[in-house]
Amino acid sequence: MRLSQMLFVTLREVPAEAEIPSHKLLLRAGYIRRIASGVYAYLPLMWRVLQKVSQIVRQEMNAAGAQECLLPQLQPAELWQESGRWDTYTKAEGIMFALKDRQEREMGLGPTHEEVITTIARDMVRSYRQLPINLYQIQTKFRDEIRPRFGLMRGREFIMKDAYSFDMDEAGMKQNYEKMNRAYHNIFRRSGLAFRAVEADSGAIGGSGSQEFMVLADAGEDEVLYTEDGQYSANVEKAISLAPDATPSPFTTYEKRETPGTDTIDKMCQFLQCSPTHVVKNVLYQAVYDNGMAVLVLICIRGDQEVNEVKLQNELVKLAGQYQGKTVLSLKVADAESQKQWAAKPLPLGYIAPDLSDKYIQAGKNLAAKFLRLVDKTAVDLQNFATGADEAGYHVVGANWGQAFKLPSLVVDVRKARPGDRAIHNPTQTLQSARGIEVGHIFQLGTKYSRALNATYTSEQGEELPLVMGCYGIGVSRLAQSAVEQSYDKDGIIWPVAIAPYQVIVVIPNITDAAQVKAAEQIYTDLNQAGIETLLDDRDERPGVKFKDADLIGIPFRVVTGRSLQAGKVEVVRRATREAQEIPLTELTAILQQWIIDAATL
Ligand code: ATP
Ligand code: MG
Repeated sequence: MRLSQMLFVTLREVPAEAEIPSHKLLLRAGYIRRIASGVYAYLPLMWRVLQKVSQIVRQEMNAAGAQECLLPQLQPAELWQESGRWDTYTKAEGIMFALKDRQEREMGLGPTHEEVITTIARDMVRSYRQLPINLYQIQTKFRDEIRPRFGLMRGREFIMKDAYSFDMDEAGMKQNYEKMNRAYHNIFRRSGLAFRAVEADSGAIGGSGSQEFMVLADAGEDEVLYTEDGQYSANVEKAISLAPDATPSPFTTYEKRETPGTDTIDKMCQFLQCSPTHVVKNVLYQAVYDNGMAVLVLICIRGDQEVNEVKLQNELVKLAGQYQGKTVLSLKVADAESQKQWAAKPLPLGYIAPDLSDKYIQAGKNLAAKFLRLVDKTAVDLQNFATGADEAGYHVVGANWGQAFKLPSLVVDVRKARPGDRAIHNPTQTLQSARGIEVGHIFQLGTKYSRALNATYTSEQGEELPLVMGCYGIGVSRLAQSAVEQSYDKDGIIWPVAIAPYQVIVVIPNITDAAQVKAAEQIYTDLNQAGIETLLDDRDERPGVKFKDADLIGIPFRVVTGRSLQAGKVEVVRRATREAQEIPLTELTAILQQWIIDAATL
């Protein structure tokens, strides 16, 4: 492609809308254009990158035995009503774009495709002989994200590869999952990314396995905890660890003490001269179930620990049946503001006791009349602890479960693992922290959707059984941008060779010099003929502008038809290292071919 004929506009200024380097660079280098919040046009250079990523994904999926298809983006509401997700997705969570057609039929734009694919399996898979099967597509997804941001990282319209496997049983599903795990490692390695596979939260579906693939970068929205020995890595949402040991309590007798102005654990510990490990902290949450039922959750946890809200949410989903709900729609700390909606009288915030009276709750139709009382494991064995006295400005010390307070009957593990904690698999290892961008997720789904949509098959023994499913996603457009987030310098993008829009850019410093033009045209033709994807910068611009643009768009190898032409040579510069070399014209094609191969097998 000739730059003179391409829609090619680079910006000197950093666009105000962009916060992170990759977003700034993709805008400045003319790869993407914002059309609306979270909605982007992929311009010609970007589209080539996306095609490259898609091709790697396709090759590895095909090699793992998956079959490509294309499912509709426009989906009827009935399918989602059958799975029970229509109301949550369109109203409660509101992530799904919904619309009515001219016949007033409700439809939605696909945020994901479990419903569609499961219907197809229900209709087409009859017998165990047709199994296993794994179908995938590479397609635009629509999600009305609350906070679209960082360009392609969190879009409202984005490209995803999603795959769905169907098996006879759990064992088969696990085999498919393992195949996808290997394929994903290949995909991210071949795309030139530094990544980590981490244990991930599988939500309330529970039990079965789920892994996320994280591209390591400071701008990542996720936190990963891992050990140096390589034996453990998990999303912080899912991570487990050993809590630090509690030191022996300095308190010997139970008493109430005046502790003015100590409404935080820090202030209280300073005042009482004790460690946070001697404290039972009582945290109040407000959860709302999908049927609109609000429940106030009082959780007791050791003072030095924090509540992991994902783990807490999973526990609350398990208890949904008690409240005639299925899932939890929202969970937040019940602060002074939220108490206006439900408190019968003001709570002694900062001084709440484990036995906080239900009388604080003003009975209401959509409000559970009693606190849901949970205790985290870290608080169960504490002795002679300090905690709130249920009166502003007062705490009690030397308290024990079974004496001063009744131990809540629901013991849960909802503490947040933290960097520096000891690892469970080997307590001499401590957890380290890194930021990650989630580019892929593989998930053992089980029978959640096949049961809901009644997708069954007939086994060899003639039994009618639900299909056992797995699902596997890759954020294709997010992946492309995260490659930039991992690889850039002050002058621009440094694409991994495997996904660069072009491999080589030939720059003519002076287009009025006939010899330069002639040599460049020849190189351009030769390289393209040899299968090397090449750009030709034949614009009427100053050399400085051309070099700046070449750096900005990040093409891996730059060939310059400059002074050394007289000696039958051209200058070749590697974008990543800026290493420059004079190479004889006669050897240029072969050398570049070799460099491209070397880069792919790194
Ligand atoms: P996240 O937690 O980042 O919202 P998710 O758990 O909703 O992701 P999945 O439903 O598992 O994501 O989707 C599969 C993949 O699609 C993700 O691993 C991610 O790479 C990508 N993805 C999800 N949401 C977006 C988005 N809004 N924009 C771009 N890519 C996305
Ligand atoms: Mg999401």
